[in-house]
Amino acid sequence: MTTIAYRTCPLCEATCGLELHMEGRDITLVRGDKDDVFSKGFLCPKGTAIKELETDPDRVRVPQIRDRASDTWRDATWDEAFAYIGDRLPTILDTHGRDALGIYMGNPCAHNLAPMIYNRVMNQAARTTNLYSASTVDQMPKQVSAGLMFGTGLSVPVPDIDHTDYLLMLGANPFASNGSLMTAPDMPGRLRAIRARGGRIVVVDPRRSKTAEESDEWVALRPGTDAQFLLAIVQTLFSENLVSVSDHIAEFVEGIEIVRELAQYFAPETVAGVCGVEADAIRRIARELAAAPSAAVYGRIGTCVQEFGTVASWAVDVVNVLTGNLDRRGGAMFNRPATGGGNTAGAGGKGRGVRFGRRSSRVRGLPEFFGEFPVVVLAEEIETPGDGQIRAMITVAGNPVLSNPDSLRLDRALASLEFMVSVDIYRNETTRHADVILPVESMLARGHYDIALRSLAVRNIATYSAPVYDIEPGQHREWETLCRLAGILQGLGHEYDVVSTVDDFTIGVLVEKAAARAGVEPAELLAQLSANGRRGPERILDLMLRTGPYGLTLDQLIENPHGIDLGPLEPRMPEVLRTESGRIELAPEMIVNDVRERLIPSLDRVHNGLTLIGRRDLRSNNSWMHNLRILVKGKNRCTLHVNSNDARRLLLTDGGMARVASKTGEVEIVVEITDSIREGVVSIPHGWGHDSNGAQMAIAREHAGVNVNILASVNDFDPLSGNAVLSGIPVEVAPL
Ligand code: SF4
Repeated sequence: MTTIAYRTCPLCEATCGLELHMEGRDITLVRGDKDDVFSKGFLCPKGTAIKELETDPDRVRVPQIRDRASDTWRDATWDEAFAYIGDRLPTILDTHGRDALGIYMGNPCAHNLAPMIYNRVMNQAARTTNLYSASTVDQMPKQVSAGLMFGTGLSVPVPDIDHTDYLLMLGANPFASNGSLMTAPDMPGRLRAIRARGGRIVVVDPRRSKTAEESDEWVALRPGTDAQFLLAIVQTLFSENLVSVSDHIAEFVEGIEIVRELAQYFAPETVAGVCGVEADAIRRIARELAAAPSAAVYGRIGTCVQEFGTVASWAVDVVNVLTGNLDRRGGAMFNRPATGGGNTAGAGGKGRGVRFGRRSSRVRGLPEFFGEFPVVVLAEEIETPGDGQIRAMITVAGNPVLSNPDSLRLDRALASLEFMVSVDIYRNETTRHADVILPVESMLARGHYDIALRSLAVRNIATYSAPVYDIEPGQHREWETLCRLAGILQGLGHEYDVVSTVDDFTIGVLVEKAAARAGVEPAELLAQLSANGRRGPERILDLMLRTGPYGLTLDQLIENPHGIDLGPLEPRMPEVLRTESGRIELAPEMIVNDVRERLIPSLDRVHNGLTLIGRRDLRSNNSWMHNLRILVKGKNRCTLHVNSNDARRLLLTDGGMARVASKTGEVEIVVEITDSIREGVVSIPHGWGHDSNGAQMAIAREHAGVNVNILASVNDFDPLSGNAVLSGIPVEVAPL
């Protein structure tokens, strides 16, 4: 008998509603859920791949233990795996100290309720300072700039895409990514709607992406010069008296005069040669932004993974403020997430702000950001002997060997560890170095709520997906796994009983805080949460919902499987602010200093050689979905895009092979000649390079591609956020 289940797709940031047709535990059909309050039936090709993901024979289903001597793997019971971990990890930490453990959290953690909550529990139990995540090869610059300007790492304004009249996008390709730091299903439909209602879209990118093709104007910027381009827009706004801060935020804006003083160095004529964009075009775009009834500037991955990532991310919101488009309909606005926290907690209008550099990395002395060190220091922290050297790692849903710079070095470093545990569904290029792999349950056997992504959505929405079925015998829930690891790290032992102890302690701490804020009895609140025997992530989610700004309960969400629409984004100034001053800090000292010390001097520098950038494909999501035939079949997507003029000059042929070399490494790759890329720029997508011995991803191996991060250096990073430079890498290209 066919039954229907409704789920939020966990595969990317768009959070589409899925309609799953089930025969028992088997998915027979995947459709877009027409009744989903947000996605209204939209689905991309990755969504349908869930069926294949669920049945992938290469997935790790039971714990695996590696015999180091023979480099072979065997199945293990959960108790055996945890006993082994409990035997090894504490010994290493007792001998070498807590920092001997490094923890790395991969991108899928942000799409999954259990690690969103229990990674933190495990990290706190670990008491190591060596915490890392994919954030510093991705969006950390935006979190830093948003934190400095508005008060928290999640105080990120998102374009009010459904109401805007003008959208300026830099380094973003939402037709392929489906949106990032801007959660909205059906990005193609929403973008087309802007133009259909008479609005305008301008895409600034070295590559004429699908998004650029569907826009009104493509501005072929030189890679890594977004900050200079945006400050030339700021200079034009000031010099032509176009600055017009909205009345309702004007009294809260601090630092406009400092920005005016900085901007004078960035006249469009000065910047034009650096950015490769004519001064007239920059001025015109500035005037269009100022004149549009509403407008939003949005920067994404290309503005982050570059040497001026934080300054570029900051400049995006400076333009939004100066054109009167911050916190207004059709501009850049703040979501009000149903789970509260971050920018919705407390009385509003003031907070603790953000602090960075409370600790420095041991070897190179780089600061921490939001409690984690940049991944550019991970390999050296493993390799360099001395107190605090990382000797053991835990990875959760991550593949840093493919996603981090100087991948070959990190690969060697991981191989040198004394012990490694990976919580993962694949034995991939990274987890092949583990001693133990702990799999997670089927995504249909767990509840789902996007805590992080809902706070970046272009509409206020709350959707919970209940488990479709129970875990299979022999499976273990991810949150229980993370609690057991926390128990081992806390010294509570490895037995299963520790799950309740850790979970009860966690909810107890959270309830105490929430009850104090709400002025209620903790015991009463805890009784409500635990009334029906609920525990684990669902109990904590229920707490977050009940104490959130809408006072929802998890039961209400369960009764509404298509989601609850909480309305469009609304102006939130000044209560959204969490800066220490209670103001919008338009000129944070860290950023002002960086503009003076690095960005202004960069105006004398033009790189005339070839520059490498990345690119995104609709059917790919970083590295982890390449073992699904439905997504990798067809034409080879891991190719080197080269402009035809460059190809002629370099004697490259379409379909031929080229060697691409940087100061860090080199790769050999198939050439694809195209005029959709600016002359002087070449492009390779990330997430490929599935040819490592010991990985167990047969289909990915058939479509291995090359690992572009072999070319990236750990010495090139944005110093304000620690984010690696993965775009704008000088390279030389020659035919093979
Ligand atoms: S756009 Fe993202 S969320 Fe929607 S179906 Fe595709 S992968 Fe899933």
